[in-house]
Amino acid sequence: MTEIDLFVIGGGSGGVRGARMAAQRGARVVLAENSRLGGTCVNLGCVPKKLMSYASSYGHDIEDAVGYGWTLPAGAALEFDWARMRDNKDAEIKRLNNIYADNLTKAGVEIVKDRARLTGPNRVIAGDKEYNAKNILIATGSKPQVPDTPGLAEHAFVSDDIFSLPKLPERAIVSGAGYIAVEFACILAGMGVRTTLVHRGPTVLKNFDISIQELLIAEMRRQGIELRLDSPLSKLSKTNTGLLAQFAQGEPLEADIFLSATGRSPNVEGLGLEESGVVIGKRGELPVDENYQSNVPCVMAVGDVIGKVALTPVAIAEAMYCVAQRFGGFAPPVDYDLIPTAVFTHPNISTVGLTEAKARELYPDCECCVSTFRPMRHSLTGRGEQSMVKLIFEAGGGKVLGAHMVGPDAGELMQGIAVAVAKKATKLDFDATIGIHPTSAEEFVSMR
Ligand code: FAD
Repeated sequence: MTEIDLFVIGGGSGGVRGARMAAQRGARVVLAENSRLGGTCVNLGCVPKKLMSYASSYGHDIEDAVGYGWTLPAGAALEFDWARMRDNKDAEIKRLNNIYADNLTKAGVEIVKDRARLTGPNRVIAGDKEYNAKNILIATGSKPQVPDTPGLAEHAFVSDDIFSLPKLPERAIVSGAGYIAVEFACILAGMGVRTTLVHRGPTVLKNFDISIQELLIAEMRRQGIELRLDSPLSKLSKTNTGLLAQFAQGEPLEADIFLSATGRSPNVEGLGLEESGVVIGKRGELPVDENYQSNVPCVMAVGDVIGKVALTPVAIAEAMYCVAQRFGGFAPPVDYDLIPTAVFTHPNISTVGLTEAKARELYPDCECCVSTFRPMRHSLTGRGEQSMVKLIFEAGGGKVLGAHMVGPDAGELMQGIAVAVAKKATKLDFDATIGIHPTSAEEFVSMR
């Protein structure tokens, strides 16, 4: 039995950061990862998704360049080579996997390339070794959840499958309306795939501000993505020519691939949690207190598995705070009310703070400024794309409660706005700030 201070299960965003920080503070740390280091974000999430989003937007950029004077050489046709992009992306991810391994090793963390499970409150088994760990950090993330609609389990792809498709399909159906569904619909459409997004509800990104929902729906349709809203799926079956999706109402729809992107569930199976006395929540999540401790004092958990906010920077911030509580040092607590986020659709979306609907509930007198405009980069492209900037603030130019944007590089821009909102900047502070001209960002300080 090996005696250690911390056993980390899961080498993704939260686990890697937690392991490194604890080791840097002198703890004896072992981390088990049964797949590739870096977890969902690096291998099957943020990173490959954003690289694919770039791949698909370069097509638009080349078309747009024509209005700015560029011409393709005579006879040259624009073609997208899926296999080249996929293989280049995979090489980049391999490079990142190695960096993660190096950083862990340099910090003094022992890596076990195997599944791990608890055999008691302080006991973990991984590979052929058993450990007696003073602390255990569960950072096992989440996995795609497929509804039990007939045919989905057999025929549907999930987001994990899209990154390694042997070839690009001609027609795709994306089911869902969360950020993963709308991002993949835009990515596939930008690569030339005839794409339909189907969803049982009336809108997309329902937890985002209404102005974002409306503009995204218009922009997706403008790009040629067919949106079938209020269309619950009843069955998916295989035909000689593809996959046939049938709906409670409306015409059936055929495509070459069907991507089910309707949610994710925490990874808690096979971890020996319940056998070790760790309580699992109703949604399959691992409930923790404000220090990320489960009902068993030596077992902690961070990231997607706790079922709070499934984003990489949140998993990292939770891990840093959790480890600081146990092994010393300082890390700020996570402010769950002010988590900025981006959605890498075409155009991009970003947001921080309250939506208009939520703000009106909490601050009935709040005010709101919205500006919808054609971004300058499209002055000469002929692309009808619109941008939108919105600020919600307390009455009389008071504290900014929420900021929202749709437009090129919205995520890059919102990071700075998020600092101002976190520091309780007022609308008057925004108004008093000199704009950067000519940019879309200056709208944030010039709306009256
Ligand atoms: P993970 O990163 O998932 O790591 C968990 C690890 O645990 C995995 O590597 C798994 O193999 C391992 N594991 C599980 N069980 C065991 C076991 N028993 N033994 C050993 N190892 C085990 N977030 C953003 O912030 N921005 C984005 O743009 C973004 N895009 C995304 C796009 C997609 C398609 C998806 C699916 C997710 C995206 N996310 C994004 C979310 C982000 O990837 C997750 O929130 C983040 O990875 C969670 O980190 P984690 O540490 O909780 O888990």
